Amino acid sequence: MTSTLLTGIGELVTCDPEAGDGSPLGILREAVLVIENGRVAWAGAAATAPAADDRVDVAGRAVLPGFVDSHTHLVFAGDRAAEFAARMAGERYTGGGIATTVAATRAASDEELRRIAGSRAGEMRSWGTTTFEAKSGYGLSAVDEARILRISREFTDETTFLGAHAVPSEFAGDRAGYLDLVRGAMLDACAPLAKWVDVFCDEGAFDAEEARAVLRAGMGAGLVPRLHGNQLGFGPGAQLAVELDAASVDHCTYLTDTDVAALAGSDTVATLLPGADFGTRSPYPDARRLLDAGVTVALATDCNPGTSFVTSMPLMIALAVREMHMTPAEALHAATVGGAAALRRTDIGRLSRGMRADFVVLEAPSHVHLGYRPGARLIHEVWKGGARG
Ligand SMILES: [Zn+2]
Repeated sequence: MTSTLLTGIGELVTCDPEAGDGSPLGILREAVLVIENGRVAWAGAAATAPAADDRVDVAGRAVLPGFVDSHTHLVFAGDRAAEFAARMAGERYTGGGIATTVAATRAASDEELRRIAGSRAGEMRSWGTTTFEAKSGYGLSAVDEARILRISREFTDETTFLGAHAVPSEFAGDRAGYLDLVRGAMLDACAPLAKWVDVFCDEGAFDAEEARAVLRAGMGAGLVPRLHGNQLGFGPGAQLAVELDAASVDHCTYLTDTDVAALAGSDTVATLLPGADFGTRSPYPDARRLLDAGVTVALATDCNPGTSFVTSMPLMIALAVREMHMTPAEALHAATVGGAAALRRTDIGRLSRGMRADFVVLEAPSHVHLGYRPGARLIHEVWKGGARG
């Protein structure tokens, strides 16, 4: 059992509002971090820090909590570059391309899906993500949804059953039959492999009644609800999420005042996915309105082949700052504390005593560079559970 002392930290972002400058980022200067047994044992003044076995000098770089990407579709085969090109030439996104990915994913072997997922998870890690969620939703049969979740679990504990992503072509004339399958045999196969249940509740996808039935069935099987909503137009997603005490409603581009008020009075996080808006050339959600109303906001990549084939949380932060009028501090908070809240995790997203030692050493003296230098490789090192790697 060894302990490590990190010194030379230019700026230590703890995201602990009790620490440092008293801001939500809890920034400490001339501070050290002590890591022991995979956890933070100390974040504060060097003079009063406990002794440690090893010492690592980060030479003036900023240290911040690892990013928590609370919304990804990790496991899918193939790509939809042609659809992207068509959309950039003027076609509107409708969600119809999901079928293309379902066909490619069903056709891929376990080994191939595992290789793809591993490569994608490695990409996420290289961008500073230390925890990510992964959804099914490109299998749409009991066997393939379970297969995707089984492979996802090799990479993360935060797995989500998304059988209600789309109605597969073999059920084109039998929507009710597909929903029976999702709530029946598919849920039975998937519930032991998942923590969360999700539904794509939007125009052209599932309506409120359908979404409620699927989420309630998932809750009955011990899963916690979260959902995709209010991406393509105004709709019931946000209020349904609050009604069911969902952990998160994701997208939130089209919200009424009633939706915002409902979210503000709830424990449901509004997860914003600017990669999807960027990739579909759509309006960005109004982050300021949510923040000013007191809603907890998270940022995530929505990594998926149709709308946001992106693994970079620093890019999400840059988009949030430059396009969604979030301050650099708010964007970083949403990418760490916000993501942890969206996954109802209290052991990640902050660097205070007892939290998991998941953090990023930036190739920059301040977190502001994440928004200021979009596209730059600013991740010097990523530590997870106290281990460098
Ligand atoms: Zn998504």
